[in-house]
Amino acid sequence: MMIPQNLTDFVVIGAGAAGLMTARELARAGKRVTILEARDRCGGRIYPLPVEEFGYLAEGGAEFVHGTAPVTRALMREARLSLSSRGGTRWSVRTGVLSPADSSLPHAGQFYRALREVKIDLSIAEFLETHFADRRYDELRRSIIRTVEGYDAADPRRTSTLALRDEWLGRDEGQHGRIAEGYGALIEYLSSECRRNGAALHLGAAVMAIAEAHGRIAVRCYDGAMFVADAAILAVPLPLLSEIALLPAARERVALTGDIGFGNVVKILLRFATKWWADHGGQDLADLSFLLSDATVPTWWTQHPAGYPVLTGWLAGPKADRVSSLTEAELINTGLASLAEIFDLSLDRIRRNLVAARAINWGNDRFARGAYSYATPRTREAQAVLRKPSGDAIFFCGEALYAGPDMGTVEAALASGSETAQTILAAGP
Ligand SMILES: Cc1cc2nc3c(=O)[nH]c(=O)nc-3n(C[C@H](O)[C@H](O)[C@H](O)COP(=O)(O)OP(=O)(O)OC[C@H]3O[C@@H](n4cnc5c(N)ncnc54)[C@H](O)[C@@H]3O)c2cc1C
Repeated sequence: MMIPQNLTDFVVIGAGAAGLMTARELARAGKRVTILEARDRCGGRIYPLPVEEFGYLAEGGAEFVHGTAPVTRALMREARLSLSSRGGTRWSVRTGVLSPADSSLPHAGQFYRALREVKIDLSIAEFLETHFADRRYDELRRSIIRTVEGYDAADPRRTSTLALRDEWLGRDEGQHGRIAEGYGALIEYLSSECRRNGAALHLGAAVMAIAEAHGRIAVRCYDGAMFVADAAILAVPLPLLSEIALLPAARERVALTGDIGFGNVVKILLRFATKWWADHGGQDLADLSFLLSDATVPTWWTQHPAGYPVLTGWLAGPKADRVSSLTEAELINTGLASLAEIFDLSLDRIRRNLVAARAINWGNDRFARGAYSYATPRTREAQAVLRKPSGDAIFFCGEALYAGPDMGTVEAALASGSETAQTILAAGP
């Protein structure tokens, strides 16, 4: 179906990276744009914490720029932001012993050969059971499952093997890093661009329903506010789409979101008085970057090369779902206990050094309901239907709608936002 012509007036729902990018592009092309954001801030899953809390611009949500990320980097250049590289040494703990991490995958040749031969998609758990069930592959299976759960925040029983193959074999050589001025600076730039181009931004405007009104689109917020436009662009996280009442055709498309995976992450930030881990029983961990373990909170990282005495813990995928009932204080305690176990220190000693702490369970965040998406064997088909204009003047965008290899990232959100605007503008008079 065609996109309706003469669309001039738009409501963009959600002021995360995707929504702001769409709004900026439409406003820049002379369209009238109103942005409705449920929170009292822009950025969504980009969530900078106050500098006073951790001594630097700590990130409660997205932190890294992964690989070449062309849309992100182009925007960074425009906004005059710089990338700081990561560096440092990765360590891992096995059977109580800390050592520099061996990143090589056991049986790698065989694994990638089998991966290349997959013709019909299946979950990565099924793939491992089919080809690598034997005990001698225990370590290989463990390593793959850990990556899928920990990095992709995904359930291995649902994760698409073909999507993982694209991700792993197509990995670009781009440098990984952080935005020196923080991801928040990118959001500030985008929102100032929206304002400069005449877009109106309403914070605290949680959308409840979208209906038709005399051939136009009426968007209603929980507080009763109503906005009427030619078209609406839904740039909210995937789980939130089912919470907004929609027109029947759009509701049918939203039913397909069940075919797109959406995983959870708990991020724990701990600020200490000193970098107590730098000297660990004679081992020099001063340049520690990442630390991988089997503790309850298994993954930790520092801000190296910056020397802030802060450790960030990461619990993702099905493991994060299992702690959904814990309070923030309980999650912080779980993090401290994991560190005590990893470094074989008393919990008290570590706790005495603690200056500030935050634990953010994104699954319990009312306007996110999880961390980010991943591909199941049915995702590409669902995305294609959701992305295709259906003639009802309702568009979907956001990281989960991005069909490229880096689903679940800020890059995916920005690229999706930009593509949505281009689709709309290309159909214009
Ligand atoms: C802990 C964590 C770590 C991450 N780490 C990285 C990383 O290192 N690198 C990376 O590239 N990516 C990372 N990501 C993923 C990245 O943050 C997201 O992919 C990206 O920010 C999503 O942008 P978006 O615009 O699609 O969605 P969002 O940022 O979620 O924006 C959607 C907006 O919609 C609003 N909204 C929701 N419901 C309503 C409603 N009913 N009415 C109005 N507004 C509504 C929300 O408040 C939100 O502001 C991480 C995510 C998390 C949670």
